Amino acid sequence: DYTIDFVALDGKLTCGEPGIRLEGTILELTKEFTNDSESIVVYAIDLHKEMDPYHPETKLFPPHNIEGTKGRQLFGKIEDFYQQTKNQDNVFYLDKTRYSAFQGTNLENILRERNIKEVHLIGVCTDICVLHTAVDAYNKGFDIVVHEGAVASFNQQGHEWALGHFKNSLGAKVI
Ligand code: ZN
Repeated sequence: DYTIDFVALDGKLTCGEPGIRLEGTILELTKEFTNDSESIVVYAIDLHKEMDPYHPETKLFPPHNIEGTKGRQLFGKIEDFYQQTKNQDNVFYLDKTRYSAFQGTNLENILRERNIKEVHLIGVCTDICVLHTAVDAYNKGFDIVVHEGAVASFNQQGHEWALGHFKNSLGAKVI
């Protein structure tokens, strides 16, 4: 979810500076995995309709990542890199409508088909979408690596709690 709405200072549900600071590390990691033929890269990106009366987040958060808006674009250099590499066989873009990248997407099939056993998580927010994706990965039996320098939240306390939870309850490597 490293999008303009979640990261830019004027984003609709922004992590602000802590999110902006991740740009270099996220770009570096994304490049590393994109250039590794044994790995795949999945951009799992929140998708909402404006004021969707059926969506639970409508009551919880201001409208964000609305279909067709600029806020839903990837932030900064990540957008450029995605555009350059999106046609590669190992690059996937998934629309997701819930916190977890597994919920309502074919992510699990994509991973199982390729016999991928380990998932590396980066992006925002640490204690919301990264957390819920990690919980699903744990329940499905994947090994989890969370890159501490490539996750952030608008809630610093939640961020720190989630880092502990990844390690202590989900058995993740936090590196
Ligand atoms: Zn959302």
